[in-house]
Amino acid sequence: MSKKLFIETLGCAMNVRDSEHMIAELNVHEGYELTTDAREADLIMINTCSVREKPVHKLFSELGVFNRLKKEGAKIGVCGCTASHLGKEIIKKAPFVNFVLGARNVSKIADVVHKDKAVEIDIDYDESQFAFKDFRSSGHKAYINISIGCDKQCTFCIVPKTRGEEISIPADLIIAEAAKAALKGVKEIFLLGQNVNNYGRRFSGEHDKINFTELLRRISAVEGVERIRFTSPHPLHMDDEFIEEFAKNPKICKSMHMPLQSGSSEILKAMKRGYTKEWFLNRVEKLRAMVPDVSISTDIIVAFPGESDEDFEHTMDVMRRVRFEQVFSFKYSPRPLTEAEHFTNAIDSEIGSDRLNILQAYADSVLDDLKLTHLGKVMEVYFEELRSDGYVAGRSDNNIMVKVKGSEEHLGKIAKVKITEVSRMVQYGEILA
Ligand code: SF4
Repeated sequence: MSKKLFIETLGCAMNVRDSEHMIAELNVHEGYELTTDAREADLIMINTCSVREKPVHKLFSELGVFNRLKKEGAKIGVCGCTASHLGKEIIKKAPFVNFVLGARNVSKIADVVHKDKAVEIDIDYDESQFAFKDFRSSGHKAYINISIGCDKQCTFCIVPKTRGEEISIPADLIIAEAAKAALKGVKEIFLLGQNVNNYGRRFSGEHDKINFTELLRRISAVEGVERIRFTSPHPLHMDDEFIEEFAKNPKICKSMHMPLQSGSSEILKAMKRGYTKEWFLNRVEKLRAMVPDVSISTDIIVAFPGESDEDFEHTMDVMRRVRFEQVFSFKYSPRPLTEAEHFTNAIDSEIGSDRLNILQAYADSVLDDLKLTHLGKVMEVYFEELRSDGYVAGRSDNNIMVKVKGSEEHLGKIAKVKITEVSRMVQYGEILA
């Protein structure tokens, strides 16, 4: 009887890819098969996120639930960023947990399942050259990590303390992974890293020292690859060469995530983001001049310590000037092990909530305006998902979610769709013959 593995993945796309790696290693080396029912699992794992306090709280309530419903003899393991920063505290707080595996120790999964109470959370461990076994949760999109860790020191961010220093993964490993996925019919490659456009600054060992722009060129030359997406680029590294390649390379999807965090240059300095409001707007201007239809999304933190009304007004000024297609916005959440955790000029929580409401209301009003511009448009959509409501869903080149009436036969194909009905987050249409 094969052993059953249940895995819950919280957080970002890099966690999704790390979970796929662990599923593959456990299947090949230990014979585990995936199950969606935790009650029948021999091994239950939670791949955790630490970017804000909420997911950490969620972890311990989830662990309690799994401990109650697990079958006799089943093991429980905690992985990911919360594992990295809490380590053995997790076992102290939840003694039924069998092992803790940090976000930079994914390749050790087949070992730790055999070591009761193992805590492997070394953030200097280097698995940048590890060739993981192959598993993908989607047959149509391939997430590929291009680096591990992060070299930035943004004062609000815990990631460098949970994922360690930034090391680029060798280009030949990345290109081999893209070619393998394309051979299996995957048309879209989604490159992942904390700062993808910082790629190539440091490798372990002797490797082809190329930058991100050159990596994009090489992946777009892989046979069968039709679309390339990536996240997250850092505004600081958006040089002209990168933007020009983005604009002229037909395989690079015309959607760009540009995490602004704050529109105030004073707050950006306190965040150690390394760029100013003017630089950010300059890069947006260049991007839009070269790719008028580009969709730009962003991350914004309001109520960062010391954020005055004037600072917040700078953020709203950028919101009005850029009119982002998507905004991920949050009230500042102090994180352990970060510099800002010790900042004393905290913003009153109510003021923070007011600012977040103002910002999100404006972001929604932009979406309401933008959706009207989609009506009657023809978009090239790559269908990736069959929904239970009889629709197939996919994304346009510039990352707009589109649904059409369809079936399995539409999956994995790129089709021209005329938009006939619009809404804030999803557009509906008909496939043109
Ligand atoms: S760039 Fe900054 S926000 Fe992004 S992961 Fe690195 S430290 Fe965190």
